[in-house]
Amino acid sequence: MPRNQLKFVDVEKRMPDKRDAEARRHDFQEIFAEFDAGRAKEQASRCSQCGVPFCQVHCPLHNNIPDWLMLTAEGRLEEAYEIASATNNMPEVCGRICPQDRLCEGNCVIEKGFRSVTIGGVEKYITEAAFANGWVKPPRPPRELAQSVGIVGAGPGGLAAAEQLRRKGYQVHVYDRYDRIGGLLVYGIPNFKLEKSVVARRAILLREGGIEFHLNCEVGTDISIEVLRERHAAVVIASGVYKGRDIAAPGVGLGNIVPALDYLTASNRHGLGDRVPLFEDGTLDASSKNVVVVGGGDTAMDCVRTAVRQGAKSVKCLYRRNRTNMPGSQREVQHAEEEGVDFVWLSAPEAFLGRGVVRGVRTVRMRLGVADTSGRQVPQAIEGSHFTIDADIVIKALGFDPEDIRTLLGMPELEVSRWGTIKVDYKTMMTNLDGVFAVGDIVRSASLVVWAIRDGRDAAESIHRYLKAKAMAGMAAAAE
Ligand SMILES: Cc1cc2nc3c(=O)[nH]c(=O)nc-3n(C[C@H](O)[C@H](O)[C@H](O)COP(=O)(O)OP(=O)(O)OC[C@H]3O[C@@H](n4cnc5c(N)ncnc54)[C@H](O)[C@@H]3O)c2cc1C
Ligand code: SF4
Repeated sequence: MPRNQLKFVDVEKRMPDKRDAEARRHDFQEIFAEFDAGRAKEQASRCSQCGVPFCQVHCPLHNNIPDWLMLTAEGRLEEAYEIASATNNMPEVCGRICPQDRLCEGNCVIEKGFRSVTIGGVEKYITEAAFANGWVKPPRPPRELAQSVGIVGAGPGGLAAAEQLRRKGYQVHVYDRYDRIGGLLVYGIPNFKLEKSVVARRAILLREGGIEFHLNCEVGTDISIEVLRERHAAVVIASGVYKGRDIAAPGVGLGNIVPALDYLTASNRHGLGDRVPLFEDGTLDASSKNVVVVGGGDTAMDCVRTAVRQGAKSVKCLYRRNRTNMPGSQREVQHAEEEGVDFVWLSAPEAFLGRGVVRGVRTVRMRLGVADTSGRQVPQAIEGSHFTIDADIVIKALGFDPEDIRTLLGMPELEVSRWGTIKVDYKTMMTNLDGVFAVGDIVRSASLVVWAIRDGRDAAESIHRYLKAKAMAGMAAAAE
């Protein structure tokens, strides 16, 4: 066992410094600073190098966490980065926004008595050091291959597949309906979790590595999927899920009741300097308003915290279950509370009040009843417990479903599940259509960046096998 490990008994867990909540409320900058070299070494040295690293098992990418922690503790950062990047195309993104408390850190064996190693913070530190020292390079294939692959969607799933395929030498073309590379990393997730420059830096490297991006190009409208299938030897669908779930309550059609993603996209675009008419006319700007966000997931947390930063008069989050039963990360709730968000647990909207535009939410108190078949306690309304909350804008953050992907892409023969996600064979990530693969949220439904990356990497390996087999079959046929 190296000397500089197993320090968890003497060294306290410390997160990177978090900016003061009062300062955070007024800007969109990331809330965590970076570790300095000393703190990163110190925190990495807390790893116990246990025999069965559950952190690695519970990381969707199976990152070799104990090894890069050990190398960081020894100050061997370039090697640490090599190991961290061998299994992850965006360690700087995952280090920032993975829900580590539910994944790697939540399963650290020292968690019980001594609090887990700060894995995400160290992963971010290693990768930032690699960028600063010029160790992060564009994908450079050892040789060029003639076959090309078309990818629909420049989110993390599509980008991970693109990079892995390019590294093998394929000609990779990514098509996206948006004007920037990154998918939800750019237009969904707010800056205070992930600054846009972090995503743009990756995008530059991918371009330098020879990946061709066709932006402002909606597949199914600007170009058909048939053309892509003719043009490329394989196609990957990585188009994400974008249909916000609605609320069934009287008055839901009133003005100023808006879907979460419209609200967050407007805020992100405004921050990027784009013209956003619905933000500029105040419709999607929470400034000086009483804001009510309905939902208890990470998107709801992003909405309430965005509203605080836009200068809202009050920000309330309505969630029908209690704190322990919410789907969002506990860390995010804590950040929101520090920033002044008021959580109204065990409550649900019963009706939206107002003339033309919303002015209030009639809310009913809930209690948790017996568990259903999924094991979750079912919320039940408590009769006569109504109360009204003032609202000038209501943001619906109840999760996402896939759009009708078959219609969107013009692929009636594509097999989908009863939830509308694309069905794949998980061993190959191939759909029921030969040479058509799918990854990320459109396969899993709304999920996580780290899972999209995992799928993209798996699909790239599978496509490589598929195209090699196809090339060999072609050669055999030619020789006959
Ligand atoms: C508000 C919010 C906050 C989140 N926070 C976190 C977090 O903190 N941590 C975390 O791990 N995950 C988070 N997620 C989830 C995460 O962003 C997604 O799981 C991840 O981005 C999925 O990646 P993807 O590549 O499958 O899809 P996306 O990122 O959605 O990318 C899909 C891309 O496909 C493009 N596209 C769609 N249809 C077409 C078409 N027909 N033609 C061309 N292009 C098309 C879209 O424009 C988009 O760029 C959050 C999600 C949201 C909405
Ligand atoms: S990718 Fe996510 S789950 Fe895996 S080690 Fe990094 S922060 Fe943890």
